Amino acid sequence: MVLKKGAISQRASYPRSVAFALVAGVLIPSACVIWFMTEAVRNEHLAVQQRLMHVYREQLDKVKKQMLLRWRTRVALVTEIAAQHSAAQAFAEVVNRDLASSVVFCCAAERRGYPAAQFSVTGAPLLSKAWRTARRLEHQKLNFSGAVVVYGQIAERAADLSEVAQALKAQARCLFKAGRTGAALDILTVALAEERFRNTKDWRGRLIQPGALLYALQIMAQSPYPGNVAAMEAITQQLTELLSDYVELSFPAQQRAFLMRQLQTLLSDTELSAGDERFPTLTAEELALAYLESHPLPQSSGVEAQLRETAIPDTWALTFHDQNLTLLFTRAHIAGDIERWGLDHMLPEGTEVRLFPALSDQDATPLLTLSTGEYLAGWQLSLTLKDASWLSAAAESRIVAYLWAGILIIAAIILLAVLTARYVGRQLTLNRLENDLVANVSHELKTPLSSIRVLAETLLNSANLSERKTREYLQIIAKENLRLSRLIDNFLDLSRFETQQQAVTFARVSIGSVIDSALEVMGEMFNTAKFALEVEVYPDLPTIRGDADLLVTVLVNLLDNAYKYSGDSKKIAIRAYQRRRVICIEVQDFGIGMTSRQLPKIFHRFYRADSRLTRSVDGCGLGLNVVEHIVKAHNGSITVTSRPARGSIFKVSLPI
Ligand code: ADP
Repeated sequence: MVLKKGAISQRASYPRSVAFALVAGVLIPSACVIWFMTEAVRNEHLAVQQRLMHVYREQLDKVKKQMLLRWRTRVALVTEIAAQHSAAQAFAEVVNRDLASSVVFCCAAERRGYPAAQFSVTGAPLLSKAWRTARRLEHQKLNFSGAVVVYGQIAERAADLSEVAQALKAQARCLFKAGRTGAALDILTVALAEERFRNTKDWRGRLIQPGALLYALQIMAQSPYPGNVAAMEAITQQLTELLSDYVELSFPAQQRAFLMRQLQTLLSDTELSAGDERFPTLTAEELALAYLESHPLPQSSGVEAQLRETAIPDTWALTFHDQNLTLLFTRAHIAGDIERWGLDHMLPEGTEVRLFPALSDQDATPLLTLSTGEYLAGWQLSLTLKDASWLSAAAESRIVAYLWAGILIIAAIILLAVLTARYVGRQLTLNRLENDLVANVSHELKTPLSSIRVLAETLLNSANLSERKTREYLQIIAKENLRLSRLIDNFLDLSRFETQQQAVTFARVSIGSVIDSALEVMGEMFNTAKFALEVEVYPDLPTIRGDADLLVTVLVNLLDNAYKYSGDSKKIAIRAYQRRRVICIEVQDFGIGMTSRQLPKIFHRFYRADSRLTRSVDGCGLGLNVVEHIVKAHNGSITVTSRPARGSIFKVSLPI
């Protein structure tokens, strides 16, 4: 059985209460931290939502204020435009500037409104004799050539320009019916296109020129011939200009809308350039007319201007009685204000702001809604999250921070507990050592001291003691004294090593002389007990660097143990030899030996094997501990081979 010294360690054994307190000291705070963490995580979602709601509400409020500001500006602009321009002009201006989907200017005393629901009849139908003749020829007798002549005569003779224009248009119509397309087109596109006919109207108040141009286009579309396309495009251009003229032409709105629609249909039927974007005001015209048809002209009232739903689906009206105007808005136009005015950029990424009438169905449930006031009463601003998971993602970063904080706190608690455990362990070991030291040392001192006292008293009190007896007593006193000295030496050596005060004086040392000195110390003892001593020192052993006195102490302690634990076998062997760069000294006895359980502990302070023989011999478990310290101080090592009842070999190896 060989024991390597490196395996020996001293462990602190904790009382149960201390161990329990330490475990509880870790578990209870950790459990509290975990509980706090889960609560914090749960609350974080709620808190983030509330914080965001608060921020969003403020932002949405700003959007609302900004929007109302824009609405006021819009109304002010419309009022200004209405004051500065004619109704038709103002209509085009408001629509083209996208201030409203459409607008209706009501008839005011000093100027005519726009658009008007009905044509204003400008004069009596033309009922002169010549007209009646021409019409009879055209419509009843279907004598188109005759009608052409009569219409021509009317055109030549009439003094009123409107009548001339109407006669020319009728002449053209009959020419076409008579199959003279070229002549008809000449009248429609050349004669009637003269500047003097620009504002001529028929008796129902319709402008003649644009009607003639459209008629020409329709004729040309029916009988296409090469070279027609260029001519049609030129006429289309001319007609478009007329229809878009809101300044100089007093176009009746109904006629304008009708012609625009007709022209668009014609253009989409022919291969001419499509006319979708040709009339930006067309939808507004139609919307205004539809409104006029379904609503009587508003009566003057003092009610504050507010958006009101109209009979037209998805259309709202805002009437200013004092201005005699009604702004019309489609739902898309009102909702589009958000984007039009860049209000959507006032809110954080990932959100969407919308404007909708209170009772409408929303496709997504909004996070927040805010009712708008003033012009938009009844409408609501809403805020929706584009991606709802974003909300939990916002909480996520905080939660990760909480988790890390929790992990760090628990780690700190565990670290503190480990440090405390080590500190407490060390303190416990120290306390135990102190107690052991006091108990053992006082016990070890007491035994030899009391036997010395008893023997000395016997010697003093017995006057006629034989010389042999006296010598025997004195020898025992000397032996006990030696034991005492060794014990105290060991004790002092140990305490010096412990407090690191032991100074090792290195010098060249011969192992032979160390063995001799040790045997000299032990000689008397071995001789008295009649021990057979075998000493085998190899010749020419090199010297080593070491402290001779301390090395003698090592050997004396080992020899003392060999002597003490030999039992009945009175034989001890000492060997010294060289193995490579190491000198080995072995002390072998053939005594009680040790079990494998005892071996790892024999170098511990105050350890003594629990056996009958051990108890019967003196000792306090310090000798081997001192040996170990000294060997270590020489950079050497000590190993033990032992078997119960067969003896032990202690081998000290010292570097050369
Ligand atoms: P002490 O001998 O004073 O009790 P030591 O430190 O010298 O203290 O020895 C510690 C223990 O090791 C002893 O009590 C003994 O049980 C055991 N021991 C030491 N040397 C021997 C040996 N040569 N044979 C048997 N047991 C030994």
